[in-house]
Amino acid sequence: MSRFADIVLPLAQPAYTFAIGEGVEVCVGDAVAVQFGKNAVYTGVVWRLHDVPPARGEAKPILKVLYDKPLLSELQMRFWEWIADYYICSVGEVMRVALPSVIKAKARCEAEFEPYIPKREQTVNLVAEAFVGDARAKMERRAPKRYEALCEIEEAGGVLPRYAVPLDFTALKALQRAGFIEMGERDYKLDCEWSRTLLPKLSQAQNVALEALQKGLAEKRVALLHGVTSSGKTEIYTHLIGERLSRGEDVLFLVPEISLTTQLVERMRGLFGNSVTVYHSKLTPQQRTRLYTDMLSSESGNFVVGARSALFLPYKKLGLVVVDEEHDSSYKQSEPNPRYNGRDAAIMLAALHDAKCVLGSATPSLESYANHLSGKYAYALLTERYGGVEMPDITISDTVRNVKRNERKLHFNKELIDGIAERLENNEQVILFQNRRGYSPYMECPTCGWSVRCPHCNVTLSAHQQRRRMVCHYWGYNEPIRRFCPNCKTTELKAMGFGTERVEEAVSALFPEARVLRLDGDTATSGAAYNRIIGAFARHEADILVGTQIVSKGLDFADVTLIGILNGDNLLASPDFRAEERAWQLIMQVAGRAGRRDKRGEVIIQTAEPQHSVYSMVGDYERVAAKLLAERKQFHYPPFSRIVKITMRSGDKERLVESSLRLGEQLRERFGRRVLGPVAPLIDRVRGEYRVELMLKVEVEASFSRARSILREEIARLREDKNFRNIVIICDVDIL
Ligand code: ADP
Ligand code: ZN
Repeated sequence: MSRFADIVLPLAQPAYTFAIGEGVEVCVGDAVAVQFGKNAVYTGVVWRLHDVPPARGEAKPILKVLYDKPLLSELQMRFWEWIADYYICSVGEVMRVALPSVIKAKARCEAEFEPYIPKREQTVNLVAEAFVGDARAKMERRAPKRYEALCEIEEAGGVLPRYAVPLDFTALKALQRAGFIEMGERDYKLDCEWSRTLLPKLSQAQNVALEALQKGLAEKRVALLHGVTSSGKTEIYTHLIGERLSRGEDVLFLVPEISLTTQLVERMRGLFGNSVTVYHSKLTPQQRTRLYTDMLSSESGNFVVGARSALFLPYKKLGLVVVDEEHDSSYKQSEPNPRYNGRDAAIMLAALHDAKCVLGSATPSLESYANHLSGKYAYALLTERYGGVEMPDITISDTVRNVKRNERKLHFNKELIDGIAERLENNEQVILFQNRRGYSPYMECPTCGWSVRCPHCNVTLSAHQQRRRMVCHYWGYNEPIRRFCPNCKTTELKAMGFGTERVEEAVSALFPEARVLRLDGDTATSGAAYNRIIGAFARHEADILVGTQIVSKGLDFADVTLIGILNGDNLLASPDFRAEERAWQLIMQVAGRAGRRDKRGEVIIQTAEPQHSVYSMVGDYERVAAKLLAERKQFHYPPFSRIVKITMRSGDKERLVESSLRLGEQLRERFGRRVLGPVAPLIDRVRGEYRVELMLKVEVEASFSRARSILREEIARLREDKNFRNIVIICDVDIL
């Protein structure tokens, strides 16, 4: 019997040694409660058993073993370790994203600490006979929130789990008293049955692609499915998924954003029934815990659709991971640690399970495409849309010429105005894309140039007309909208630039008869709100949809024949080395939303720089990729180098600068010219904290694991100086 256990706690710290008391039995992978710090009790995971007492002090005892079986398998532990090592953070930080918060909760005393093992779930059942006619209409008018909640239950077939109903206790009680709902209960269990007969029949082109994938995957771990939008990639995945499920293996289907799960899950449930589990970080902690523990005690054969946090579920025998829209930058966790890329972690997870991984995209990332070119990944290409729908025409509209000719009205060039008018005339739909939310990104005094800035960050505040607030997009700070310049007193501030709110206002002014909806971070505040807007537009209850990035993702509208991109220039304006790749992918993704069987779609891009190569080559993936890869090679950017960004933060500017210069020197001693900086980033103050950045570029031929361990060493060395102990240092590996 071992006497000590090294235990990982959900902290940015290494594992700590605890004592195993008389009669306590623990295994590696067990979740245990331990006291840490003065009065805090944490859940920890037993990482290693041994007999070596800690060098200093006495080891505290393990208080309690929380579940009757280990929460983590050997394989999951290797996976956590890989993430911590590769992304330069602690295993404890991986634990924070990997386990649902109820499991890993911190409590003040031991007694509070009962593991949550749910068996039954409470439900809200709609009394359909009551929710009709006048009563229904009345509720829609008087209590829209309750009305919507009831509609949601109705759409779900009359029963929803309690946690999924967006109403508080009082509202539920009132509805129950009025006879609209009843409270119920049901068993919760994963259901693993499905029938193969429902899989869609593939077209010839799809069949060719499927066979190429199957053949490729027989030899290689990873395959890239490169299929234009609407080519039916999802249908191809379903065949690969069915194969694995029928062998009793687990399948994980990753999507970049939670909002995209809804449509997909519906499609998958139609094929695979209740074997489909949805998992992402927006579920309640109780729900996530239940899914986790249920999967722990179930056999394999689970099909999980989820966002990147689903990588951490306890798969028994993973056979396949699908990473849809693999190019999407939301796969990368940008904050806090671990700053991991879900796509890359998925490939690692597949390798650990000896499973296969399929990456899919209409616009593969240059990294993945390069891996196909080098032969590392298998590859299948689908160039035609399903059902023979044509790719849209792309029209470049010259903003400067429009201004000269006096043809630009309220941010709209003549080509776009005419295009919209024609679609409205034909009862077709239009999507307008602008990559900024709010009314205007900054308010400026035309006389003295003063602009409204965030008092805590080095950024301008965006005007949000509807909320009547100026908002900092970095952290949400806001203040009332001002009208006058505080310097010039009487000069009125001018709204500069434009966001989606202003586009909505302008298009409504230009086309007063058109019905306009807006989809952005301000209107799609919840999954339900998002679904409502998308649903209304899909039912053609509006003619024009104005939106940010969200409209470029995974949506399919039959009547949309025109897409307007209001400002191509600010897609390219970012100083980031990926700006052009991003702009190009975005234009292609947005374009993929246009067109239908009987009519070719059109994309109109407004730009002041119409000669930019991104526009002329936009539809030609191979050419653009070749050009961008050549540039990346020349300037030593990914995929030819790996980049680690080291951000240092502190409220104390002097110390920050001093420490960053020191770290820069230390790193240059070891890495030479591979180190860039320190430099102040574009936004060098956020929430009152100053920021400085260093960049480490390691060519792919060099040992990256060696580079990471040197980097860790040097950061630890810097920290030995107590003057610098309070500087926050963050490593971001493979920045996006
Ligand atoms: P992608 O994921 O490549 O963008 P989808 O899988 O969403 O494309 O397919 C686009 C549309 O074509 C969807 O409405 C889908 O139902 C339809 N579709 C694609 N392939 C088939 C098929 N083999 N049988 C029936 N419908 C299909
Ligand atoms: Zn002024």
